[in-house]
Amino acid sequence: MSKNKTDIGRRQFFKTGAIAIGSLAIVGAASNYLKANKKNNIPDTNTLRPPGAIDEETFVSECIKCGLCVQICPIQAIKLADIDAGLDYGTPYIEVRSQACDFSCDSLQCVETCPTAVLDFQQFKREGEKAIEKYDKEMAGKQMDKNYNPFKVQIIAMKEHVKMGVAKLNTSTCLAYQGKGFSGTVRDAGFDGVNRSPYTTDRKATPVVDKKYSSDICDICVKECPIGEKAIVMEVQTDGTKKPKVLDGCTGCGVCVMVCPTEEPSIIVEPIKA
Ligand code: SF4
Ligand code: SF4
Ligand code: SF4
Repeated sequence: MSKNKTDIGRRQFFKTGAIAIGSLAIVGAASNYLKANKKNNIPDTNTLRPPGAIDEETFVSECIKCGLCVQICPIQAIKLADIDAGLDYGTPYIEVRSQACDFSCDSLQCVETCPTAVLDFQQFKREGEKAIEKYDKEMAGKQMDKNYNPFKVQIIAMKEHVKMGVAKLNTSTCLAYQGKGFSGTVRDAGFDGVNRSPYTTDRKATPVVDKKYSSDICDICVKECPIGEKAIVMEVQTDGTKKPKVLDGCTGCGVCVMVCPTEEPSIIVEPIKA
């Protein structure tokens, strides 16, 4: 082999090597960036993944950002993360202070519609079926309750099985903990969140600002919780006063956060970080 050819070969070898090392450095830097980014992208307080989200890492890598969950939600609770949002770009999230999931759709439509099962419907389906089986067993041989509605039994079980996060009270700002009541509308005019209160008869999602409250001791979070006494109650204290207490059945839906009348909500939802 001529010296010239050897030199060219050597130069090519070093050039290819340099490109390879450079590429590895870029890949390494990108992967470090993604890792750091991923760390930052764990949902913040009051910012949750939709119901049924699988573990965060798999969720982010397998969600195809199709937006079907966004489109199907009747109250537009779900948004797709912006490029500058804390969450991974294009993945869905719910910011509960702005618009909580009040289970308006009654059937976890976002979960059911997800084509990749990163919102896992099977777990809810199983819970619904189990609840119907349990009810049927309890009713065996008895006269059928004329109000029996298997669909209702199923959806209650499905909703109760949701675990987006857990509500936490800030006892230093919560009005009930200060012995205070509340009268008026809970959010400023212009707030566009809606809520399908469990206490209305027509079960329509109405604007939060359309409802006026009046209570000697604030209990709005308890009243508006779509899950009810399995999730949050007014607990009688030894001195006879009542204060809200979050229980294990809390789904992290965030309705309590959305309707809390203090400027900074005195109840927050911490996301479940799987
Ligand atoms: S479960 Fe909640 S977030 Fe999902 S579609 Fe229904 S109302 Fe919207
Ligand atoms: S429907 Fe499923 S895959 Fe599509 S954006 Fe929502 S979570 Fe992601
Ligand atoms: S306490 Fe009720 S309203 Fe608040 S997050 Fe839990 S389930 Fe939702």
